[in-house]
Amino acid sequence: AERVFSGVQPTGNLHLGNYLGAIKRFVELQKSHECIYCVVDLHAITVWQDPEELKRHTREVTAAFIACGIDPKAHIVFNQSQVSGHAELAWVFNCVARMGWLNRMTQFKEKAGKDRENASVGLFAYPTLMAADILLYRATHVPVGDDQKQHLELTRDIAQKFNTDFAPSIAANGHGEGYFPITEPLIAGPATRVMSLRDGSKKMSKSEASDFSRINLTDDADAIAGKVRKAKTDPEPLPSEEEGLKGRPEADNLVGIFAALSDTAKAQVLADYGNAQFSAFKAALVDLAVAKLGPIGTEMQRLMADQAAIDAILIDGADRARVIADQTIRDVKDIVGMVR
Ligand code: ATP
Ligand code: MG
Repeated sequence: AERVFSGVQPTGNLHLGNYLGAIKRFVELQKSHECIYCVVDLHAITVWQDPEELKRHTREVTAAFIACGIDPKAHIVFNQSQVSGHAELAWVFNCVARMGWLNRMTQFKEKAGKDRENASVGLFAYPTLMAADILLYRATHVPVGDDQKQHLELTRDIAQKFNTDFAPSIAANGHGEGYFPITEPLIAGPATRVMSLRDGSKKMSKSEASDFSRINLTDDADAIAGKVRKAKTDPEPLPSEEEGLKGRPEADNLVGIFAALSDTAKAQVLADYGNAQFSAFKAALVDLAVAKLGPIGTEMQRLMADQAAIDAILIDGADRARVIADQTIRDVKDIVGMVR
């Protein structure tokens, strides 16, 4: 059976990139798949989080999921730390993955920065926990932004190595050829990597210091208008064909955002706005972004006012996730040779 898993960190400032690259896809996949969507608080603490803020941000991501259209009854929505299997399987995967594999991960290099000796061990091991998140549910498909592509490849390598290393035991325990599926990443559409509004070479991020670099899901119309108006561009008008976006990262980014928000392709946006000045295009983009994000922000605020209701959703989701997770942990223990 096909099963979707994905996660978002409760690190604050949920933004347009999270929406277009991930959450919007999560919503679409509900029609065709059994979906598990996780607020990954164990990932968040790989860098320091204020405890009260961590709780608030966990509830905020949950509210965003629901405000965007995820149905927590038909599917599963929960926070990672409530299901202990994530941490347990991550340990096993720490012993399957190789140092050399993790040393190649670019997200660690970016997040650790120059002071690598001072990064947490958790930040280094982040990708093995991510592999555990996905494989704990034996998910077959994972919708993510382009920045997570390398981690998805590592997840496939870990699944493969586990299946190979334990092949006789996997067969002896009645699981046939391989225990873990080789997961398919779902990275598609015009906005798999939304860039910073201030710098077309950096991705839009929750953890970027400048709020002007991103459009937050909770921004009101004035904030959106101000940020889009100030967004970096070049002096040329828009090209009329996609070819013309080459070497113009800021223009490419805004066109990609427009296309994704209006559920069309970049070529169509350029057919409509080719040769337009940025001032006119930005005005149209503001209207579009306000129309799409305004209702989401309002609904998030409404949902967050009832903290008990949000927590109840997470507890119920965790209860249902745990049923699947516990079975995997039992299987893995048997396969690896742990007495239980
Ligand atoms: P942080 O800076 O704390 O890592 P983040 O903005 O990268 O925050 P995550 O919680 O790490 O957000 O990622 C959640 C999902 O959003 C992932 O699927 C990720 O690939 C996607 N995503 C993050 N940033 C972008 C972006 N700029 N464009 C498209 N997708 C993105
Ligand atoms: Mg990230």
